[in-house]
Amino acid sequence: MRPSDLPPLRDVIARHGLQATKALGQNFLLDEQLLARIAAIPGDLDGERVFEVGPGPGGLTRAALRAGAHVTVVEMDRRCIPALEELAAAFPGQLRIIEGDATQVDARALVGDGAHIIANLPYNVGTHLLVGWLSAQWQPWWKSLTLMFQQEVAERIVAREGGDAYGRLAVLAQWRSEARIAMKVHRSAFTPPPKVMSAVVHITPGEEPAGVKLPMLERITAAAFGQRRKMLRQSLKGVPGALEALAALSIDPQRRAETLSVAEYVAIARALSA
Ligand code: SAM
Repeated sequence: MRPSDLPPLRDVIARHGLQATKALGQNFLLDEQLLARIAAIPGDLDGERVFEVGPGPGGLTRAALRAGAHVTVVEMDRRCIPALEELAAAFPGQLRIIEGDATQVDARALVGDGAHIIANLPYNVGTHLLVGWLSAQWQPWWKSLTLMFQQEVAERIVAREGGDAYGRLAVLAQWRSEARIAMKVHRSAFTPPPKVMSAVVHITPGEEPAGVKLPMLERITAAAFGQRRKMLRQSLKGVPGALEALAALSIDPQRRAETLSVAEYVAIARALSA
C-alpha cells in the first residue's frame, strides 16, 4: 500500500476490530486534517525523529509519517499492532512499532537524543509521563513535547500565578521550559467523545536557572501548595531556612502560595539550594 492509498481511519478501526476500550482511555481522532494540524505543532518534521506514545489505530502516526518524520511508537493494546504494521509497510523504513507500556520503556534509549515527543494519551498516563520528562536531567534529551490533555489539566500546566489552576504542575512545567496551549480540541472530534474538552500542550526546553536544585524547588512548592489557602509564613514553616529566604528576597510572608510567580519560587529555591 502506498501512503496515498491509505484507507480512512474509520475503516482501519472496523477491519481490525478496534472498538474503543475505556480501561485504556481510548478516544480516537479520525479527522485527518485535524491530525495534520496537531502533527504540525512541533514544526517541520521532515527528517526529524518522533516518539509517539499510544498511537492506537495510527491517526497521529500517519500525520507524522506524511510530514516526513521517522517515528517510533509504543502501544500497549495488542489489537492495534496489525493496523500499525500496515502503516509501516506504507512508509518503508519510517515506522518502528513497540508493543508495551510506555511508562515502562526507556524512551531515550529507544529514540536517542533530539527526538520530538507526541502523544494523545489517557490523562493519568500522560501526566505521569509528563512529570518524568520535565523532571529529567537538563537540557533534556527531547526536543519538544506535544501532548493532548483534558483541557482542565492543560490549563494547570500553562497556568500563571493568581488563579486556582496554578500549582506545582505549572511551576514544574515553566521553571525551565516554555509551556503553551497550542490548540483546543472539541470533545466531538473524538470517537467515542469523552465527557470533557481537550487541549494540546506544546512544551519546549529553556535554560535551567543557575544554582537551583529541582528537589528543593519541589520541596517548596509541595509545602506551599499543600496548604495553598494559608500564608507562606505558615505553609513554609517546616522548610528549614525558608522564612529567612522570604525575608532576604523581600517576599511578604503573608502572601499565599498561588500569588507567587514561577520566578519567585525559583528565587526561593536558589536561596535554599546553596
Ligand atoms: N493516538 C491515537 C489517536 O489520537 O487517535 C489514540 C489515542 S487514545 C486517547 C490513547 C491510546 O494510548 C490508546 O491506543 C491506548 O491503547 C494507548 N495507551 C494507553 N495507555 C498506554 C500506555 N501506558 N502505554 C502505551 N500506550 C497506552
